[in-house]
Amino acid sequence: MSGNEICDDHTIRQLAGWLRDAQHVIAFTGAGVSTESGIPDFRSPGGVWSKTEPVYYEDFLQSAEARQEYWRQKSETHDGFLQGVPNVTHRALARWEQVGILKGLITQNIDGLHRMAGSDNVLEIHGTAREIGCLDCEARYEADPLVQEFRRTNVLPDCPRCGGHLKHATISFGQALVPSVLEDSARWAGKSDLFLALGSSLVVHPAAGLPTIAKQSGGRLVIINRDSTPLDTTADLVLNTPMGETFEALERILRNDE
Ligand code: NAD
Ligand code: ZN
Repeated sequence: MSGNEICDDHTIRQLAGWLRDAQHVIAFTGAGVSTESGIPDFRSPGGVWSKTEPVYYEDFLQSAEARQEYWRQKSETHDGFLQGVPNVTHRALARWEQVGILKGLITQNIDGLHRMAGSDNVLEIHGTAREIGCLDCEARYEADPLVQEFRRTNVLPDCPRCGGHLKHATISFGQALVPSVLEDSARWAGKSDLFLALGSSLVVHPAAGLPTIAKQSGGRLVIINRDSTPLDTTADLVLNTPMGETFEALERILRNDE
């Protein structure tokens, strides 16, 4: 489907109308908003899980071998994260916040592209791959120099301050989400009268429960995702269209009206 066809589609006009009329729009994004920035998602063919087994948090804590494998995997995906730049969808969402259409953005992404695009009111519920955290003293470090050092030496880095284990500031499999961040997301979802679930397969919990909270609180739920999701039947509108073209079409309509 081309951008113009999407734009002519009455559903996109309907969505633009809902965006204009809503008082409290919240966006919830997943890996599908960043694939057009060259960062692969997890569950599509060729996605991360078709190639590697993730290292579970418990194993990371208990075994040096697992920590070595974790750092190896992270060094492999590092360049993709660092080289990715915000695409039309990140930029549109940032603009919507600036002009007051969007109240807040909850993201599962760890690539930092929403903030880079200019979004401010962001909850990164799975953390950020741009930083490394110490598991003992809570110090934070920029990821790039530590990853480069690991690549050169193949030696696991320790916290320069306390000698503790260093790990990317992202939530690993088996690791609990930060309770306050999760509470804020649930609160935002509960307050929204229009909740946009964008580029997420909506199968990872507890994050995937947020659209349901929004819906149960009386808000509209809109899902934009190339593939179907388990929540499609509860949504008020589902668009299985390419993200960038969909946002370009929405932006054309919204900007015309401003
Ligand atoms: P997912 O991989 O489970 O699902 C992504 C969804 O996006 C898919 O259903 C796919 O159909 C859709 N999609 C992909 N490209 C699209 C496009 N151009 N247009 C429209 N739809 C598109 O991702 P998820 O639900 O975010 O869950 C994966 C987890 O992995 C998240 O927790 C996230 O932290 C992490 N992750 C993050 C990144 C990132 O930061 N960019 C990348 C991979 C994985
Ligand atoms: Zn430390």
